Amino acid sequence: MRAEIIAVGTELLLGQIANTNAQFLSQKLAELGVNVYFHTVVGDNSERLTQVIRQAAERSDLIIFTGGLGPTQDDLTKETVAAHIGVGLETDALAMERIQSFFDQRGIAMTENNRKQALVLEGSTVFHNDHGMAPGMAVSHEEKTYVLLPGPPSELYPMVDRYVMPFLTGLLPQKQVFHSRVLRFYGIGESALEERLLDLIEQQSNPTIAPYAKEFEVTLRITARAATVEQAESLIVPVEEKIRERVGEYVYATGETSLNQVVVKELTERGETIACAESCTGGTVASLLTSVPGSSAAFHGGIVCYTDEVKHQLLDIPQDILATHGAISEATARRLAENVRVKLGTTHGVAVTGVAGPDPSEGKPVGLVYIGIASEGQSTIVKEIRLAGRRQAIIGRAAKFALFYALQRIKER
Ligand code: ATP
Repeated sequence: MRAEIIAVGTELLLGQIANTNAQFLSQKLAELGVNVYFHTVVGDNSERLTQVIRQAAERSDLIIFTGGLGPTQDDLTKETVAAHIGVGLETDALAMERIQSFFDQRGIAMTENNRKQALVLEGSTVFHNDHGMAPGMAVSHEEKTYVLLPGPPSELYPMVDRYVMPFLTGLLPQKQVFHSRVLRFYGIGESALEERLLDLIEQQSNPTIAPYAKEFEVTLRITARAATVEQAESLIVPVEEKIRERVGEYVYATGETSLNQVVVKELTERGETIACAESCTGGTVASLLTSVPGSSAAFHGGIVCYTDEVKHQLLDIPQDILATHGAISEATARRLAENVRVKLGTTHGVAVTGVAGPDPSEGKPVGLVYIGIASEGQSTIVKEIRLAGRRQAIIGRAAKFALFYALQRIKER
């Protein structure tokens, strides 16, 4: 099956928003083993949309649209697809009921154009919108399947997961399941990971192994195709073992999670706590930890000690250490971690001090970062790392490295 994604919206062409829906849909189709050959973006213009639909119908079997299902004049995806395949539009009763109750609940009168959102292509399979008003739909015509989905990602993502994926699975020639496992890595870059696993990645066709990099972390998705989930699982297990043999020390978790979530979970399970002293990351470690619901059980607080005065006054870093070694040093990172731990009364103290750039500092190069981890009853460790990238990337990576080393310490205790 050849698939193509058409994103409709002038704001995409103007560069006001990025076409993340197409990225999401491509990933979902890849999970199903469906090849996506084209991504097209077209403005809210019926003539140009018609041209794009004609071209897509010539070269693809599955054509997925996002956007243009709303109530306003410029929302014209349904009307244009209906005209192309020669069917009319009809009101979907359930969608109409939901739209009506949306207005009733808020005590406001429904404007006439909102009725338009309940219109679907005649004979289509309707996907209800659990997070908005316009339903999605799928219709087949001359052996092509047209799937129309709303633009807002908050509506599209859950609709795809809940309704569209099962629908698309039903279209596939052989009834198969696609089952995947995600391994989450830290401390190794995407290209280094790929290099260490290149032969495995190239040899494997079922399961497939695909690395992704996002938010300064690397993940590897192992996806197997089989008749049942159990069979897919049995294909995944030996491949995962081989991967772990080579790069297991960098795997910090499996499945849908993140470093900060894992740190909070591991601490909470052990009844341990953490505090941080941050110089170059300016509170990023604290922000990552507090973004996890329930983190107050494990995270006591943090001190952003950006200047030498604050390092000295609030965290008791001796002037002579700052003068002889500098703020960006192994000695300062060590004392910061130890002192923040004692002052905030926690099991662990994490410190980050380094050069985020763009210019060197204290004669030290951009990207040099020291991370200190102090723990109750254990000797303090300090890691020196050298990070590449711009200021924001260095800050983001340094904060994640701090969490990664903290996690290693928490687990080895
Ligand atoms: P609405 O009912 O909100 O009008 P719609 O289905 O008509 O929904 P659009 O009007 O095209 O969708 O887009 C609504 C919003 O959804 C856009 O302003 C944008 O924020 C987001 N959006 C649309 N298309 C995309 C896309 N391809 N990728 C990411 N976001 C998108």
